[in-house]
Amino acid sequence: LLLHAGAGDRTQSLNEGEPAWHDALRAAVDRARGVLESGGTALDAAQAAVASMEDEADQFNAGRGSVLCADGSVEMSAAVMRGEDRAAGAVAGITTSRYPSQAARLVLDSPHVLLIAQPADTFAAAAGAEQCDPSYFATERQRARLGDHLAEVDGGTVGAVCLDTHGNLAAVTSTGGIRGQIPGRVGDTPVIGAGTWADAYAAVSCTGQGEAFIRVAVGHEIAALVRAGVPLAQATGEALSAVAQVGGRGGLIALDAAGNASLPFSTEVMPRAIWRAGGDTITLIGPAEAP
Ligand code: ASP
Repeated sequence: LLLHAGAGDRTQSLNEGEPAWHDALRAAVDRARGVLESGGTALDAAQAAVASMEDEADQFNAGRGSVLCADGSVEMSAAVMRGEDRAAGAVAGITTSRYPSQAARLVLDSPHVLLIAQPADTFAAAAGAEQCDPSYFATERQRARLGDHLAEVDGGTVGAVCLDTHGNLAAVTSTGGIRGQIPGRVGDTPVIGAGTWADAYAAVSCTGQGEAFIRVAVGHEIAALVRAGVPLAQATGEALSAVAQVGGRGGLIALDAAGNASLPFSTEVMPRAIWRAGGDTITLIGPAEAP
């Protein structure tokens, strides 16, 4: 199981709150572990980890505490994908579903792949997903930050990739987008094949400048390289280089079917967690500590 909590620069709030980031990552791993240990699938576990991070209002840019659009609103996006059959579900620009990853999962379990804006929330609500007033998602912290200069890459988007004991890969990503984005802007997170991808070869969840990740189709690109026999670490490196070539920065987490893991990033930090069955949870923030 790999988690990320967004690629970005080392901010003062990250430095001051670093223990809380480790704790929140650990809590998300524990949630996913519980699901796996009680027989849940890779997709169930990845979704549980992301839902745990969506509930964290003070660290992450997903669910409650998402970054704000230029007009002060919150628009959230998420995607889930199951490797074994390439079933996929995504929502973009939603405003009332408490857990965007759950809304995406409900889309996966339907004939659709991508639903947008208020009808997507209505669809999720009809399928039983908890709804909140839009004001629930906009925290004081993010209101204060909206006034700051806009960061190139903000950090805090969350994602999980998982390989279960049945050999199934899955990927889940959830975000509030980029701070100060114009309403209606959608990044790579809910774009299947860009910010989120899983097939029989690889599971990938991305974070960073979404436009660049879309232009490179990062998730699908990595899986296609792996399918062609390229080692996972080389495939992820090539994809991130391609992102840089179109002027983007960010990071990603990826697993292949053999359980190889790759967690590269081109920003200063990418909070992340690694857990293998029978092992300890490892949480990391910056590159110096990379395993
Ligand atoms: N990739 C996300 C987006 O473009 C933002 C992020 O990962 O920080 O919406």
